Amino acid sequence: MTEQAPIKVDMEKIVSLCRRRGFIFPSSEIYGGLSSCWDYGPLGVELKRNIKEAWWRAVVQERDDMVGLDASILMHPQIWEASGHLKGFADPLVECKSCHLRWRSDELENSNCPSCGGELTESRLFNLMFKTFIGPVEDEASVVYLRPETAQGIFVNFQNVVNTTRKRLPFGIAQIGKAFRNEITTGNFIFRSREFEQMEIEFFIKPVTDKEWFNYWLEERLNWYVKLGIKRENLRLRQHTKEELAHYARECYDIDYLFPMGWSELEGIANRGDFDLVQHASVSGKSLDYFDEESKEHFLPYIIEPSAGVDRSTLAFLCDAYDEELEDGETRVLLHFHPTLAPIKVAVLPLSRQEKPVTVAKQIYTDLRQQWMVSYDDAQSIGRRYRRQDEIGTPFCVTVDFQSLEDEQATIRERDTMNQIRVPIVDLKTTLQAKLEGESLFILPPGGSIWKVEREER
Ligand code: ATP
Repeated sequence: MTEQAPIKVDMEKIVSLCRRRGFIFPSSEIYGGLSSCWDYGPLGVELKRNIKEAWWRAVVQERDDMVGLDASILMHPQIWEASGHLKGFADPLVECKSCHLRWRSDELENSNCPSCGGELTESRLFNLMFKTFIGPVEDEASVVYLRPETAQGIFVNFQNVVNTTRKRLPFGIAQIGKAFRNEITTGNFIFRSREFEQMEIEFFIKPVTDKEWFNYWLEERLNWYVKLGIKRENLRLRQHTKEELAHYARECYDIDYLFPMGWSELEGIANRGDFDLVQHASVSGKSLDYFDEESKEHFLPYIIEPSAGVDRSTLAFLCDAYDEELEDGETRVLLHFHPTLAPIKVAVLPLSRQEKPVTVAKQIYTDLRQQWMVSYDDAQSIGRRYRRQDEIGTPFCVTVDFQSLEDEQATIRERDTMNQIRVPIVDLKTTLQAKLEGESLFILPPGGSIWKVEREER
């Protein structure tokens, strides 16, 4: 019997699992690491790719009213003047006079340095954009910035998209890409880093429809997380107060997730009005008007922006999937990833290293990997191999034994229930396909049989 162990998902457990199993490593580790930069390892890169693909599928592929974009990271510096980032994208900062560490003054609980207790300087504003130079000369004229958000690349391509796709309002442009912020206070693993990825939508609408579309996107985005397995009770919507609202926003809600350190922003959804197009039209001197054929009017569309972080989503999916169960006095660590997100969909495990079962298992492995990320593992006992797959969230294991040589069947074992079914090898692919799409494990292909075992072999 499986009993629920009392668990607390603390960040240390997640960080250690990610490190141990190759999801996420500290950047530049052999040189002592680079503060708040992270490298996604073999499993992390698959998880992150699956999250991005699920997002792209939901917001671009399956919709008529969305198109994609991939703008460059380096952009004309005037973009940041128009967007307000050069002036407004700054945090108030104090420096410790003894240890010289810098702190965000709005986050300090008392007036001394939290690290050494030393005296702090007056607060000053610190721009969060990374500056660099374009071309061979390092002077003021060649200053460019690493983009602090992907959104601006969309605004400045609005006319290009209208002209080339002939999209009519309402429609949106989606983009996934790196963004960089020289954050003062980092930490909480990949929650806040200096280099991260965003998945942003800018949805262009007629101004009078802003309330309707704003509510639509709030619901749509919240549901996306729930459909991919995040527990609804671990998500909440939080409205920004007037004081908190960014300079460009008329209204904003955060989708917060209950991370190990408490409720924190996962995604922001803002009604940006016509702020961005007004600004870019004014600073560039180019008209960004939209001509509405129905009303024969020229106007600047309003924009609803759902802006999500890939890394924060990755962390939320990891935390929500993490589980520990007590199994016969031993702890089974598992990640209940939704099959769409699981880095490895199927593991093929031969029960013996003898030539005949290995040949069959290798054939299955070669066949299945045409379709999915599949792993092959023949090291140690079957119980240990199952545990290794549970810990990285592999939804299904396929085992091949001596009986498989006679009856040409293999066993599919499910991660969450540990139930098993026996299926003809010729039907493995279609059966797994159906299971990965959510069909119950007990719907069997012809010739298949249920093989529920109380205890797994160790
Ligand atoms: P915060 O208040 O936490 O600093 P923000 O409100 O500045 O976040 P936005 O500018 O709204 O964030 O960016 C949209 C999304 O990009 C955020 O919801 C988050 O998922 C992600 N994001 C922003 N900054 C970072 C960061 N430093 N590291 C990782 N993800 C980030």
